[in-house]
Amino acid sequence: MPVGTRGAVKSVTHRDLVDLGAEIILGNTYHLYLRPGDGLIARAGGLHRFMGWDRPILTDSGGYQIFSLADRRRISDDGAEFRSHLDGSLHMLTPESAAEIQLQLGSDIAMVLDECIATPADQDITRMAMERSIRWARRARARWRQILEDPGASGVLVTNTGQAQFGIIQGGTHPALRTESAQATIEIGFEAYAIGGLSVGEPPNVMYEVVAQTAAQLPDLAPRYLMGSGLPDDLVECVALGVDLFDCVLPTRNARNGQLLTRHGPLSIKNAQYAEDPLPPDPECGCYTCRHFSRAYLRHLYVAGEMTAATLNTVHNLYFYLDTMKRIREAITFGSFEQLRLEFRQTFSRRPQH
Ligand SMILES: [Zn+2]
Repeated sequence: MPVGTRGAVKSVTHRDLVDLGAEIILGNTYHLYLRPGDGLIARAGGLHRFMGWDRPILTDSGGYQIFSLADRRRISDDGAEFRSHLDGSLHMLTPESAAEIQLQLGSDIAMVLDECIATPADQDITRMAMERSIRWARRARARWRQILEDPGASGVLVTNTGQAQFGIIQGGTHPALRTESAQATIEIGFEAYAIGGLSVGEPPNVMYEVVAQTAAQLPDLAPRYLMGSGLPDDLVECVALGVDLFDCVLPTRNARNGQLLTRHGPLSIKNAQYAEDPLPPDPECGCYTCRHFSRAYLRHLYVAGEMTAATLNTVHNLYFYLDTMKRIREAITFGSFEQLRLEFRQTFSRRPQH
């Protein structure tokens, strides 16, 4: 899922996203709630209509952004009290209100509010956050069901009655806590499940172990979503471990910083070595950028600070990610997945070299 934090995937149009084959994008509850407001978006007919995107949207719960506010937030059993990064105003996000906001936005997939913690965290702190996340998940599910059973009585302007709600498995890097979290969250019962609290600085081997252990406990027929992870080799490795859905700001953010991801590893387009290089960023890539432009031209745009640099780099990086997922699906179908996995390990590996 390309990340469209504030109702837009930075620097590209929806037309680009459709051309790239993006089937679903991610929107951000925290940002949309603060500006322009979920009420305004609901009155405009919901996020799909407001932003002119008719394919699926997943919204996060806003929790991750609030926990990143550090000294501007206070967490209690009720929820998370925080000050807006825009104007300092005081707000309260609860498991119930996070569900309400997402029903007003009308996303196709809503996430429950969970407690994210700074890592590495010891077992006691991780346990407390994990247990609170389960209590919050129960409340979020109850409120969400209650609203959808009788939208008229809820005071919430529901703009998508077909919304699904995903639970989130927490528990840090502690296998016993992951197991407890998975069992309790599955018992509450959601349309599907996400693995949260990873890609926060832990070594890749640790992340893969936690994903393997957690994914193995999730129901076979429900999609599994690994939140916020997505180096190219992580996609391949984590699909092997049973993950279906990913989101990551890396392809779009790195594009704006001049880093292009290719089959042969990352390429920093700002480097002087590309000043007169007539090749496209990746000669094997079929994206619009690689079909039309040279490294020399892209480097020039980047160095000159042209806005088009961000657009063309983003088109390439998103193509690379979406094409990687397509290649994974095809490799699974044709029985050549292990070969693809090996290929990625050789070009992108974050695993320690043995
Ligand atoms: Zn390309």
